[in-house]
Amino acid sequence: MSRILIIGAGGVGNVVVKKCAMHSEVFTDIWLASRTLSKCEDVRLEVEQLLGVKIKTAQVDADVVAELVALLQKVQPELVINVALPYQDLTIMDACLLCGVNYLDTANYEPEDSAHFEYSWQWAYQEKFKEKGLMALLGCGFDPGVTNIFCSYAQKHLFDTIESIDILDCNAGDHGHPFATNFNPEINIREVTQVVRHWRDGQWIETPPILEDDCVHFSFDYPVAGPKESYLLYHEEMESLVKHINGLKRIRFWMTFGQPYLTHLKVLENVGMTRIDEVEFEGQKIIPIRFLKALLPDPGSLGSNYSGKTVIGCILKGKKDGKELQKYIYNVCDHAEAFKEVQSQAVSYTTGVPAMIGAMMMVKGVWKQEGVYNVEQLDPDLFMEELMNNGLPWLVTDYTGKLPE
Ligand code: NDP
Repeated sequence: MSRILIIGAGGVGNVVVKKCAMHSEVFTDIWLASRTLSKCEDVRLEVEQLLGVKIKTAQVDADVVAELVALLQKVQPELVINVALPYQDLTIMDACLLCGVNYLDTANYEPEDSAHFEYSWQWAYQEKFKEKGLMALLGCGFDPGVTNIFCSYAQKHLFDTIESIDILDCNAGDHGHPFATNFNPEINIREVTQVVRHWRDGQWIETPPILEDDCVHFSFDYPVAGPKESYLLYHEEMESLVKHINGLKRIRFWMTFGQPYLTHLKVLENVGMTRIDEVEFEGQKIIPIRFLKALLPDPGSLGSNYSGKTVIGCILKGKKDGKELQKYIYNVCDHAEAFKEVQSQAVSYTTGVPAMIGAMMMVKGVWKQEGVYNVEQLDPDLFMEELMNNGLPWLVTDYTGKLPE
């Protein structure tokens, strides 16, 4: 018997709830709480109709520790799965500490007033979680998440030493809108407009953001999706992988973007619509990127007309038994298939399924630790098996192509 509380009833939350409900033998009691109760209720009704599983719902403002504590005291879950926004990571971790509850999330903490991504804030909770005998699992979506686990699997089974990792994230899907983001627009736009960093020979190297003419990009021939322009981008999993993959000399993250997406984003940035500071508008203060979010399609609603696939994986270069080799580990996920199963597009699906599997590893005691952990610090084998069983099959191939130097 395990009671879990999922916080955040957005695109990813919808998938996590449904996937947990499909394992009602593991997750015997499921609660969903979010800022807007009606969104939780919509998911509750769908889960009952489609899967015959009854879940419970609650309203909470996860920015307020006292509200979270009251909810945790009422629900008394074993684990909180945080799929609200990165802004709420620390308040939810604080409430978990106060109430003796384990914690899992899919994105690292970000302060609202600066688009700054690093694990330092959450790693600082290490001793507090340890002292209470609790576990916090960070970054258990796809990237971060599955990509980290692909790397730890490669470290355990495929290589003696890993010299370089290239994470390649391709969305070759078409949602039919001129411009939309696949997860929360505010978080997504903050992420892709920042200065780019990658890690080489012990230091972070900065390169221009993806909207600048001199940004770094190349065409990669993805399995199933074919050649796609892929842009160097900073992504949070690099920070933890640098620490946890032994002997790593270089790590880069690449993401595909279509020209229409980049053109729209450039225009929005040029006119100030991606600003995250307050501006005065008709006697009230507004934050332009939040106003923009209100105008854009809700990522959770994109699924019904989405076609095509996502292809996300890692190319690792290193040595085994003295021999140089390159391996490519990746997953292909189909937007329409994801919609058929859980009424969601593949980006929410590929995030929500690993969050459910991470939760399963924790409540079953397969991943049982005290303190704060990134997913690659834990044994990858059963997680990799569960990816196969839960809609995210993966492949390992030899990679013989050449990546940019
Ligand atoms: P959505 O915007 O669709 O959903 C976020 C949900 O959180 C909404 O229901 C929202 O409520 C709720 N929420 C926001 N603020 C609060 C608050 N203060 N209190 C309670 N609930 C709140 O986002 P997504 O589902 O697309 O993304 C969820 C998370 O997943 C994000 O952190 C994102 O960064 C992460 N992610 C991770 C990926 C990975 O691979 N690791 C990939 C994609 C996403 P309301 O409905 O009222 O706005």
